[in-house]
Formats: sequence, structure tokens, C-alpha cells
Amino acid sequence: MKKFIDLGLSPKVMKAINDVGYDTPTPIQSEAIPHALEGRDVLGIAQTGTGKTAGFTLPMIHKLARGRARARMPRSLVLAPTRELAAQVAENFEQYAKYVKLDMALLIGGVSFKDQDRLIDRGVDVLIATPGRLLDHFERGKLLLTGIEIMVVDEADRMLDMGFIPDIERIFKLTPFTRQTLFFSATMAPEINRITQEFLQNPKLVEVARQATTSENITQNVICFKAENRKLEAKKKRDLLRTIIKDEGEKLTNGIVFCNRKVDVDIVMKSLKKHGHSVGAIHGDLDQRYRMEVLAGFKNNDITLLVASDVAARGLDIPAVSHVFNFDVPIHAEDYVHRIGRTGRAGRKGWAFMLCLPHEIKHLDKIEELVKQPIPRLEVELPKLKKQENKSRVKNIDTKIETNPLKKKQENKEEKSEAKSNPKANNNTKIKNNPAPSDAVKETKSPIKGLGEHVPAFLLR
Ligand code: AMP
Repeated sequence: MKKFIDLGLSPKVMKAINDVGYDTPTPIQSEAIPHALEGRDVLGIAQTGTGKTAGFTLPMIHKLARGRARARMPRSLVLAPTRELAAQVAENFEQYAKYVKLDMALLIGGVSFKDQDRLIDRGVDVLIATPGRLLDHFERGKLLLTGIEIMVVDEADRMLDMGFIPDIERIFKLTPFTRQTLFFSATMAPEINRITQEFLQNPKLVEVARQATTSENITQNVICFKAENRKLEAKKKRDLLRTIIKDEGEKLTNGIVFCNRKVDVDIVMKSLKKHGHSVGAIHGDLDQRYRMEVLAGFKNNDITLLVASDVAARGLDIPAVSHVFNFDVPIHAEDYVHRIGRTGRAGRKGWAFMLCLPHEIKHLDKIEELVKQPIPRLEVELPKLKKQENKSRVKNIDTKIETNPLKKKQENKEEKSEAKSNPKANNNTKIKNNPAPSDAVKETKSPIKGLGEHVPAFLLR
């Protein structure tokens, strides 16, 4: 197994890695970094959680340490599909580049153009942007992409889902042919394959196996139930959810409730709130400031339960939680692995519960096929049926599993969501961005957990 020291990174980058506390590079890092340092294009097939962000930021910092930025001509560009992900990349840069003097700017929607223009005018080494906002700046004649030495496309498959591929193609064409490209995607859809063929030059393919297993530390259960009629299904799910939460008692320190639809995220959040739970919600339609506050509150343990949609939660560095609740059975089996992977991290125990209605059995079958194990069935008695107050209502039952191939592929697309964020300067690295912080964020007192003990500057402002 390779060590960080074997990868050829500069002492200043190594020192920052040491500060963050990483021992060994992840597979994507040990494969991608040496090639990126050599100047080769890299095509990384990897998803969030594999350490891919450091896989591209570390060699970029190493390479950009020499040289100076010119006004309006950034030297490197990182494109991320959402504001949150762009902000997360900026946080990573902030950490890893703390001993290197690099100017950075985050160009995301929801932030005034004027402030962003000022930053670009001064010259930036690293520009982190969502495609729409970047092109807005370009069209206003404020930005030149002809000085780009390194370009990163992160989460290309999500760019595809969100309809950003034409923008990406356009941006590629605005950058010099001589640039180095680091391109990351969890999957290689034909459209993504096409643009990599067109815009990458003899890339080094670095692939990290897809996650298809679930941690042994996680106790998984599924509650299959029926409702008297269709109208009662959602209500019964909410009742069951609250019953399980109550039954879990002190074992539940914090948890994420995943819903398939945004509308259910809202309803479940309101319902839990009404029943006295400390709860917040994130999905693509919610106000950005609210989302950032909810995330900060959850990381800070001010909020115990986070109700989320897959797309809003995917890619976000949410701290480990004790419980994951699948309010709905995810339509894509891989989402199950991602969802429950939020718990049982770093050797800790975790619990994952899933609620399954008859029409969701087909998705459950697919999940069991993917994880190659049956998910134990539980029977949960609703309070109104219970006879004794103190007895746990959760019992194990033995259920046979049928496997039905899932034929219909359903898409659960979310709105293009971008986050407002406000990273600030740290040591020599200046992450430049603007707007006013929210009061809720300002009031944060205890350390925010997420990227280790690091508190992203934008969450504190
Ligand atoms: P990413 O896939 O880039 O979103 O990274 C997922 C998480 O892994 C982040 O919280 C990183 O801080 C963390 N991470 C990245 N590289 C390493 C490493 N070499 N050792 C331990 N943790 C890491």
C-alpha cells in the first residue's frame, strides 16, 4: 500500500495533509495523484466518499504553488454541479492549501456579481464554480478562461442529470487546448463517455470499485406493512417512523430520514416537528440559506433529525449518524448503500430502518440483489394497537424474500440546486467570497463536525 510520502507531493502539501490527520491515501488518491502530478489527464470513475476531492485538489495545489495569477485570468478551474458541492471543494482547498499562497474564488449563484467581479479582477489561482454562474460571468465579459492550466470536472454524472453537459462542453471550448483535465464521474453514461473522448487527451483511467456492500457495523431492518387504503399509506409510514424513533430511545443520538420525494421531505419534517422532535430538512426546493443553516445545525448537534432527499444529501460531508431511516425504499438500489453508509462509520455501531409498502417490494428486491444479503424484516406495532405501555413495540420476524427483477427505471430528479456559501481567508490561502451570514449560523457555539474537527470558515461567518 502506498503512503502519502510516495506520491511526490511537496512538503507544504504534505504538512497540510498531516494537519488534517490523513494516514494513508485512499485508492483513488494513490492512483490519480502521481499521474496528475506528471501532467496527464485523469479520468476518475469514483463517487463521493472515496476521497476524490483530495485526489484532484492536492496535485493542483502542488502544481499551482509556482506561478502567479493575472487579473481576470484564473489559472485553474473546478466545476461542480451544485453550490453545496462547490463550497465543499472550496473548504477542502482551504484546508490543504493552508501553507501555500494561492488565491481562490468561489463563483456560485445567490451571491452578488459585484463582489465576485472584484475578486476575479484581482486575479485568482483557483476558481471553483457552478457551470451556470461561470458562464454568466463570462458572458458579462468579466472573465477570460484562456489562462486555465488545469480544469477539473467533478461529479460529471450529476452534471448530466441536471442538464449541464452543453455548458460543460462550452466551457471546455473556452479553455486552452493545452490545459490538463481531471474528470470525475461515478458512472460512464454514453454522453459522458462522448465528452471525455472529445476533450480529454489520452487520459489515465482510474477506477474505484463501486460500493455494493454495506458495513457489518450497521444493523439493518426493513418493516414491510400494508395500509387499509392508499390514502392512509403515508400517514401510517409517519406513525411507524415516530414509533421506531421512540423505541430506539437513547441509542438514537442523531439520524437522517431519507425520502424519495421532496414533497414528502416537507411533510415528514413538519410531522416530526409537530411531535416535538428537533428536526430540519434539506432538498432542492428549499431556500439556500435555510439549507446551509440546517446543515450547520445538524453538524453542530443542534438538530437531531435531518429529513433529506438523496440528491440534496449526496456528496455532502455530513457527519456520521447513529441512525438512518429510509422513509421510502430507494428506487435505485445503490442509493440504499449510500444512505445507510451515513451510519456505522469508523468502527461505530449504526442502525438502519426502512419502511416498505407493497408497491415498494420490487425496489427492496433489487437492493437485496445488490447487497447480496436479505435485509431482516421487523414487525412494528403502532401505538394504538399496543396493550402495554413499557414494552418495546419492535419485534423480529422471519420473512421470506422474493426476488423480482426491477424493470422500470424511474428517475427522481431534483432541481438544480446550488448553495450560497461564504468561505473566508485562512492563513495564506484566501477563499474569496461574499455575502452576509445568517444569524443562526453566527450563533453556532460548539465546534461543527464534518471534515474532521475542521470548521469550514463559511459556516462560521
Ligand atoms: P470525498 O470523496 O472527496 O468527498 O471525501 C470523503 C471524506 O473522506 C472527506 O471527509 C475527506 O475529508 C475524507 N478523506 C479524504 N482523503 C482521506 C484520506 N486519505 N484519509 C482519510 N480520510 C480522507
